[in-house]
Amino acid sequence: MIEINHTELSAFDAIVVGAGIFGITIAEQIANELGRSVCVLERRSHFGGNCFSEIDADSGIEFHRYGSHLFHTNSDDVWRYLNRFTTFTNYRHRVLTVHRGEVYPMPINLGTICAFFRKHMSPAEARALIETQSREVATSAARNLEEKAISLIGRPLYEAFIKGYTKKQWQVDPRELPAGIITRLPVRFTFEPYYFADRYEGLPTDGYTAMFKKMIDSPRIEVRLNTDFHPLRKAVRPGQLVVYSGPIDRYFDYRLGSLGWRTLDFEKQVLPVDDYQGTSVMNYADEDVAYTRIHEFKHLHPERNYSSHKTVIYREFSRFASQADDPYYPINTAEDKELYAKYRALAEGEANVVFGGRLGGYQYLDMDQVVAAALSTFRKKVQPFYAGVRTFKAAGDEIRS
Ligand code: FAD
Ligand code: UDP
Repeated sequence: MIEINHTELSAFDAIVVGAGIFGITIAEQIANELGRSVCVLERRSHFGGNCFSEIDADSGIEFHRYGSHLFHTNSDDVWRYLNRFTTFTNYRHRVLTVHRGEVYPMPINLGTICAFFRKHMSPAEARALIETQSREVATSAARNLEEKAISLIGRPLYEAFIKGYTKKQWQVDPRELPAGIITRLPVRFTFEPYYFADRYEGLPTDGYTAMFKKMIDSPRIEVRLNTDFHPLRKAVRPGQLVVYSGPIDRYFDYRLGSLGWRTLDFEKQVLPVDDYQGTSVMNYADEDVAYTRIHEFKHLHPERNYSSHKTVIYREFSRFASQADDPYYPINTAEDKELYAKYRALAEGEANVVFGGRLGGYQYLDMDQVVAAALSTFRKKVQPFYAGVRTFKAAGDEIRS
């Protein structure tokens, strides 16, 4: 990585806006696969986007500034690609949830069902019970998150573990949320305790930041931190490639209105105890607890044997994002979808600009999906651009489901 040297922006072969995992992957490919120069502009004071991790100076514990980030994927390509820059630990994520003072496994599994109904059940008995309770709504007819959840797990489990948490997390009535959000959360009729079932899972052995450092370690990549793209737009040379991974509505100066986003507030504490909660993430299902979950970062790396008798925790609070906040999760109500379609049509008219990533595509994506999208955008848009196809339709790769 070249440290800031104030080379004219127009001198670079490409400009990448945003040093998140999308922008960094594209920059790495442009530099190393094409041998071209790239300037990555990042508004924040660090690279890595929302996956950024750092060491807490007081305790020596690595924490994820924007909440716990667990890497998991089913893609051989993505796994192979990232393994060029880091090894991964064998961490497997588990989550527990607190409801009315009791602790249950999450996602809902046979253990959750038995504990909640206070009865030892076989998988078949639990299935039969949930089948009866979920008859209220047919899954195929479910039009929103609440109906979908009830159709999958029945009303009692929905009201205990999903309703309050979802309301807190999305600040929207679950009846106004798309059904798809809840299908990310499996229901298991076994005691399988792990959150993800992907083929590959783990955390970068030396942390996300070390992985990103390796990805941008090229004399052809310059990263400019604390640099917002928008005031610099006039410095873009005609015909210069811009890969934009900031918010799409911001790119167009919100001219059609703002897309709905949620942001998060984190309350960090360094506590003088060895272990605060005995696990890395504890969800809080009830609406009368203001936060959605507590992260305790030392549990993400049990292999490290952190020596300090301290621990770092984060309480996570969710709220609507204003234009001044960092947008984290697209809310994606029906109006949002309509508005996004209009912005996308505008994006198609922008020659030489590729939109991508979570913010550029107004889409909730896990890290592995973002890497897959970046690699595919590189192949389908960036390589052809330099092969002589000088202008193209702007929109990034769609992986909407
Ligand atoms: P970002 O990481 O948001 O990066 C975009 C970057 O662009 C930002 O750094 C931003 O500052 C910069 N930028 C924006 N506008 C401008 C501008 N005008 N000029 C310059 N720079 C600009 N995924 C998982 O796989 N596993 C998890 O466990 C997981 N947990 C998550 C937990 C939370 C709380 C959140 C919010 C997300 C989680 N994710 C997880 C998703 C993951 O964070 C995203 O997939 C990933 O960060 C998206 O990368 P990106 O590069 O598209 O966007
Ligand atoms: N969810 C819930 N209770 C939980 C965990 C998740 O209701 O204890 C719901 C919530 O609506 C959330 C969705 O399931 O948005 C998907 O969960 P996931 O953990 O993927 O959410 P993320 O934190 O990644 O948004």
